Amino acid sequence: MQYKDVNMEAAKRIALVAHDNKKADLLAWAKFNRDLLEHHTLFATGTTGSVFENELGLTVHKLMSGPLGGDQQIGARIAGSEIDFLIFFWDPLEPQPHDPDVKALLRMAVVWNIPTACNRATADFMISSPLMDRDYNRQVPDYDFYTNRFQQP
Ligand code: PGA
Repeated sequence: MQYKDVNMEAAKRIALVAHDNKKADLLAWAKFNRDLLEHHTLFATGTTGSVFENELGLTVHKLMSGPLGGDQQIGARIAGSEIDFLIFFWDPLEPQPHDPDVKALLRMAVVWNIPTACNRATADFMISSPLMDRDYNRQVPDYDFYTNRFQQP
């Protein structure tokens, strides 16, 4: 497999998503890390983003609510190299109407080698990493072999 470097600048573009039963957990984590988060560009699904703006006073680029397409909007931005970091507190104990979108978003994060935290411990390790405030070259598979698979040699 060949890889391409994708530069992640010191100011990361972070997407935040929490299912309803996990919003309080994500908010508590974000309150604790508010000063660190402020250095980054924040995106969120609609309701999560509103909670962040109201409770933390942070500027958040709000997309649609998750079940209305917000997860897919974040996935599209990951594929388009517009988001490079994902904090996604999904609820393991409750089925969601948009379960396929949840799976699709997690899949995009793996396809594009995006740092992803699905629980607080992982989010703690990620946000306290020295790499958070530095440029970082993320290695992404060179998918040309896939897009060119029907081209004649
Ligand atoms: P919400 O969406 O932030 O609009 O509640 C979250 C989700 O369920 O994906």
